Amino acid sequence: MGVSIDLSGKRALVTGGNRGIGRTIAERLAEAGADVAVFARSEESVAEAARALSERGVRGLALTGDVGSDADVERAWDTLMEEFGQLDILVNNAGITRDGLLLRMKPEDWHAVLDVNLTGAFRWSRLAARQMLRQKSGTIINISSIVGVIGNPGQTNYAASKAGLIGFSKSLAVEVAARGITVNVIAPGFIETEMTHALGEGAQAEFLSRIPLGKLGTTGDVADLAVFLASPMSDYITGQVICVDGGLTR
Ligand code: NAD
Repeated sequence: MGVSIDLSGKRALVTGGNRGIGRTIAERLAEAGADVAVFARSEESVAEAARALSERGVRGLALTGDVGSDADVERAWDTLMEEFGQLDILVNNAGITRDGLLLRMKPEDWHAVLDVNLTGAFRWSRLAARQMLRQKSGTIINISSIVGVIGNPGQTNYAASKAGLIGFSKSLAVEVAARGITVNVIAPGFIETEMTHALGEGAQAEFLSRIPLGKLGTTGDVADLAVFLASPMSDYITGQVICVDGGLTR
């Protein structure tokens, strides 16, 4: 008999829950019984994702906006509170890359990546933490990357944003711990999504040769950990960075 995780009655929000890793996290949280809101820029795509969640017998809520905009996040937060009235699980997953060697990196590419990947998580976490402190419960899961742990040439902006997310999470974990709220980081390695397809075959083969388990990860590998971290089974785990990378970092 398997261990089953029951998240019924829980309300979750996944940024970038319309595709890739975020989409699978949203789906697995819904399969465990949670109501799930997805937040991303494309109205059509969040509506489709929310519909697919509702088909799993829970409430799917579509929220349109840019994590890079204070106004969008605040507006979405108000709708979330009107519709759900509480938030138990926040997954800061939205992320972008604008790769390039430092000497050629345009300031706008630096700022865009930091603003979406790091400040986006700040925007959502600040609102969520206030509500969770009131509820005296909740969990925040931030999707970083092993690049934030070990670095990667051509990704100084992305690595800085993802390492920043780790420091942010460890600090916030201590700030909210007294109320039973947990904050953890998932650092995926090389996961098959649109983001990694964009890397090209040469870079993909190079990464693969360094992975001890000898294969790329799936979005499900990351989502299963997110569901565990969202569940009471991980109540005593906070401030941690867990790599889902086939053994690449160790
Ligand atoms: P993806 O490009 O398929 O998905 C990114 C998601 O972020 C999309 O849903 C998109 O709508 C959303 N998003 C991007 N900019 C946004 C903005 N300004 N406002 C709102 N939403 C926005 O990529 P993915 O591979 O699924 O990546 C998901 C997360 O996992 C990212 O944070 C990424 O850095 C991280 N990650 C991915 C890998 C990998 O191998 N794919 C590895 C490590 C970390």
